[in-house]
Amino acid sequence: MGKSSKDKRDIYYRLAKEQGWRARSAFKLLQINEEFNIFEGVQRAVDLCAAPGSWSQVLSKNLNKNSGDALSSKIVAVDLQAMAPLENVIQIQGDITKVSTAEQIISCFDGELADLVVCDGAPDVTGLHDMDEYIQAQLLLSALNITTNILCPGGTFVAKIFRGKDVTLLYAQLKIFFPNVTCCKPRSSRNSSIEAFVVCQNYTPPKDYIPTMINPLLDLSYSPENKFSGSNHVIVPFVACGDLSGFDSDMTYSLEKKSLDPLQPPINAPYHTAISLKQKNFYNKVS
Ligand code: SAM
Repeated sequence: MGKSSKDKRDIYYRLAKEQGWRARSAFKLLQINEEFNIFEGVQRAVDLCAAPGSWSQVLSKNLNKNSGDALSSKIVAVDLQAMAPLENVIQIQGDITKVSTAEQIISCFDGELADLVVCDGAPDVTGLHDMDEYIQAQLLLSALNITTNILCPGGTFVAKIFRGKDVTLLYAQLKIFFPNVTCCKPRSSRNSSIEAFVVCQNYTPPKDYIPTMINPLLDLSYSPENKFSGSNHVIVPFVACGDLSGFDSDMTYSLEKKSLDPLQPPINAPYHTAISLKQKNFYNKVS
C-alpha cells in the first residue's frame, strides 16, 4: 500500500503526522484522558512499551502544560527497542518483565513511586488469534506486575487489553489491586479490532502484599470450564470515549492533500535487510 493510500484509509494516521505525533496511538491516550482526566496532579509518570514514543509525547505535552520553564513532572519511558530522544522524557531501553527495569525506573524518580503508569504494549502479532490474545494477556500481566513495584497507593494504571474470551480472568486480576477498573474503547481505536484499554484507578494493593515479578496467571489453575463465579466473577463497566461524532477510524476519507513522510522513521527497522536483498535481486535468484 502506498503512503498516500494509507493516509486516505486511516484518518488518525494522517492526523498524527499533521499534528506532530510519532504514531496514531497518541489519539487513544488523549481520548482516554478526555474521559478520565488521568493526567490531573501527576508528577511522576511511566510509559511502559513506549516506542516509537507518541504516548510519551502526549505525557510530556500535557503534564508540563502549565508549568512555565520549570518542569513540574518527570516522565520515564521504557521499551525493548531503542527510541529516538524526546524532550523531557528519560528513556530506558529494557524489558518490562525484569525486576532490574523496575529498579531503574524508581532510581530515575530518586526513590519515589509513580502516580501514573501507562502501557500500550503489544507483542509481535502472529496472526493466530488465540496465540495473540494469550501473549497480549501475558504482557498485560507483566505490566501489572511491574506496576505493583513502581506505582504509589491511589495511583492510576492504564493498559491495552484484548477483549478475548478470557478477558474476565484479566479483570479479576486487576480488581485485586484496583477498586475501579473500567474497560474503554477510544474513538481512534478501530471498532474492527478487539483492542481496548483498561483504566484502573486508586491503586490499593491487598494488605501485606509484597510486590514480586512472578506472573500471577501462572499460579492459577484456570481453564475455560473452571469459570469464575460468585465474588470472583467480575463485570467491569465498558465506555466509549473521544468525540463520537468525530472521525471514524474504520472509515476511508478522501484527502486532496499530498501524503506526508513519517515524523520519526524507525531506527534499525527489521525490514531494512529485506529491502537491501530485494535491491540485489536476491528473491528473483531464489525463486
Ligand atoms: N505507545 C507507543 C506509541 O504511542 O508510540 C506504541 C507502542 S507499540 C504498539 C508496542 C511496543 O511494545 C513496541 O515498541 C515493543 O517493543 C514494546 N514491547 C513489547 N514487549 C515488551 C517488553 N517485554 N518490554 C518492553 N517493551 C516491550
